Order: sequence, then C-alpha cells, then structure tokens
Amino acid sequence: MEEQDYHAFALESDHSDVLAPYRTHYHIPFHKEGQASIYCCGNSLGLQHKDARQDVNKELDRWAGLGVKAHFEGDPPWFTYQDGLVSIMTDLVGAKTGEVTIMNTLTVNIHLMLVSFYKPTKTRYKIIVEHSPFPSDMYAVKSQIRYHGFSVEDALVELKPRVGEYTLRLEDIEEAITLHGEQLALIYFGSVNYLSGQVLNIPSVVSLAHRVGAFFGLDLAHGAGNLILNLHHWQVDFAVWCNYKYLNGGPNSLAGCFVHQLYHADHSLPRFEGWWGHDKKRRFLMEPDFHPVPGAEAWQLSGPPILALAAMKSALVDFKSAGINNLRKKSISLTGFLHSLIKSIEDPRLSIITPNDPEARGCQLSILIQPPDKRIFYQMLDLGIVVDWREPGIIRIAPVPMYNTFEEVYQVYTRLAQMLQVL
Ligand SMILES: *Cc1c(COP(=O)(O)O)cnc(C)c1O
Repeated sequence: MEEQDYHAFALESDHSDVLAPYRTHYHIPFHKEGQASIYCCGNSLGLQHKDARQDVNKELDRWAGLGVKAHFEGDPPWFTYQDGLVSIMTDLVGAKTGEVTIMNTLTVNIHLMLVSFYKPTKTRYKIIVEHSPFPSDMYAVKSQIRYHGFSVEDALVELKPRVGEYTLRLEDIEEAITLHGEQLALIYFGSVNYLSGQVLNIPSVVSLAHRVGAFFGLDLAHGAGNLILNLHHWQVDFAVWCNYKYLNGGPNSLAGCFVHQLYHADHSLPRFEGWWGHDKKRRFLMEPDFHPVPGAEAWQLSGPPILALAAMKSALVDFKSAGINNLRKKSISLTGFLHSLIKSIEDPRLSIITPNDPEARGCQLSILIQPPDKRIFYQMLDLGIVVDWREPGIIRIAPVPMYNTFEEVYQVYTRLAQMLQVL
C-alpha cells in the first residue's frame, strides 16, 4: 500500500466500524490542553468508563442513606452485587456457571490457586513457567516452591526461546514437558506473554500437561477482554486475571478467578477458606464449620469491596453488549494494520518480536529497539502516544478495539516514522 492508501484505509475502516460508538463511552486521557492522547496502553491500564463515577456515587449514596441495610436492600443489594458481573465474566472467559468469581487482586489469587493446585511430593514437585513471566507471577511461584521446602533451582523450569528468538515454539514446550514428565506438578503460563505479546496455543499445552499428569494454570491478565477464551472446554484447571487492563475495571481493581468444574467437589484439593466461601444461605448463621458454596466462590475469603465492583460494572456491561467476537475481529484488523505500518518503516533499529500470525497474538505488538534507545519511547510520549517501555528495550503498543481507532494507529505510524528520521 502507498502512504495515502494507508490513510484512506484507516478512514474507511473507522467509518464502517460497528464498534466505533464505544469509544465515546470512555474518558481519553489528555496529552496537552484540550488535546487527547493516542492511548495505546490498555494492556497496562484500561480507560475509565464515563459511567464509572456515577456507578460508584450510587453506592456511596446507598451507604450514606441506608447504612448496613444496603447489604440486603436496593437494586441490586450488596449481598448479590457481584452476581451480575460474575455472569458477564463467565461468558467472557468461556466458563460454565459456577466456575468464575471476582475476588482479591491478581497476585493474591495466584497464591490461593497455588495453594490448591501446587501440592508437591518428593517425586512430583516441578513447575514449568513460560520465559520471562510477569515478575509478580515469578515471585509467587518461587515463594510457593520455597514454602513447600523445595529449592527453586531444582523445582522451577523456566522455558527459554531459542538463541536469537524471542518467542516459544510449541515443539520446545512439548519437549520440556516430556523431559520433566512425571516430576511435573504444574504448568503455569500467561495466555499472552506480557513482554513479547505471544499467545500460545492453550488447548495444545493443556493436553500436554494432562498427558504427564500435571495441572495446567493460566494467567489471563493480558488475555481477558483481549482474546476469545474457552477455559471450560479447553480443560484449563485454574485461571486468574486482573480486571484493570483490557477490562477497564479501574486501577488495581478486583481480580478474576476460574476453577474448573472438575474440582468443585474435590476434597483432595487443599484450600484456604474464609466466610465468603461459605454456603450463601447459611453465611449469616455464623457456623463454626465451613460448608463451601459449590463452585469457584468457595475460594472467596472476604466480602467483595462494593465500590471497586461498582467502578468496573459499566465497563463489563460494554463487553457483553459489544461482544468479544466482534471486539476480537476488530482487534485482528487494528493490530494487523499497525503491524503492516511499522514493518513499512524499515528502520534497522526496530523489529517486531510479537508473532505475525493473528492466532499467536492479541492486541499488543512488542517492538524491540536495538541497540536499546529510550529516547524513542520518550519522544513517542512527547508526541502524545501513550505506550510503555519494558527492559531490555521493548516498546509495547496495544491498540484496543473498544476505544482505539484506525486513524489513531495511522497517526502512531506517521509520528513514529517522522521522529525516527531525525533521531
Ligand atoms: C498486570 C499483571 C500482574 C499484576 O499483578 P497485581 O497483583 O494485579 O498487581 C500480574 N501478572 C501478570 C501476568 C500481569 O500482566
């Protein structure tokens, strides 16, 4: 395509985009006075829904006016406030009723799931993780290994890409799983690697894990609201995610958790328990013995913070009405457009390390800058393009189908190309 064709394509794509109205539901952060930034950082913090303030204020008002009575009065009462949100979330991750809940924050949920799904024995104690997992996931896994009295050196297997490559190959994952075989207790991956943007073929890795008798757990921090997920059908054992990236739930907001139906009545799984996991009908009988809610909610510890739930409500409703299939379709086109544009820049300092196959990536493209030159990142910020920088020299750009436009993607390209000419 020629330069002017790119722009025409962008304008035409925005014009025919059925999801375009959703952009108006969100506050777009400022660059300079009165000028919106080009926000390509929804993989780090999603934008604020314009109704979030009103939704939170409504609960503040109910607290003011009703006090404790708001737990059981109003629409919906706080006691059942999260049910509607959990239901949307259940569909979004491809789960069955009862397999999903919203609780705690992500790293807390990682630990709670490891308590149940990492039960090392003398002979089966190893955990395989993807290369460069998000630091918090790594700290959680390492501390769990040490907590159980094993050494990280022996028990942790971090997969590495081949020399000169930045992403993992399925055949190498398979080889590692076969190699460690019966010593493997757990395989724990991100659905999208936060650094490279690579999406693995989850069903294939799940079946490899199960073939050697290991559990498979998934971190959907970069997958929820980004990819089409089918957790139940894929037989993922557990999954955890935060709601503040693609899901726009609010800074450090409450997280999600999935436990496959297979384990809801499995008494062999250890679990940390609290009163909010107790049978709902009997919760206020204040019984000394724990009777779990059947399902993922049995892992809940405390009553959910209502103000945080309120802040994520309208954003989640948007996912239901826009539909993840439509969002994903636009996303493939939007990110594909960005990919072609960046490729056309032909600057030897830039290479895209995220796979080109749309099946193997989500919204995000990771651009490796060699040699690392942070000025490129700072200049992008100066030009109003909000992206982020991750060591050792990666700029992550994520056009998000809920609120980004093809014109913005085009603008990222023209500003970047111009800036590189003089840098
Ligand atoms: C964003 C992110 C986190 C952040 O964890 P919090 O507990 O929400 O602070 C953890 N893991 C992954 C993979 C992430 O992308």
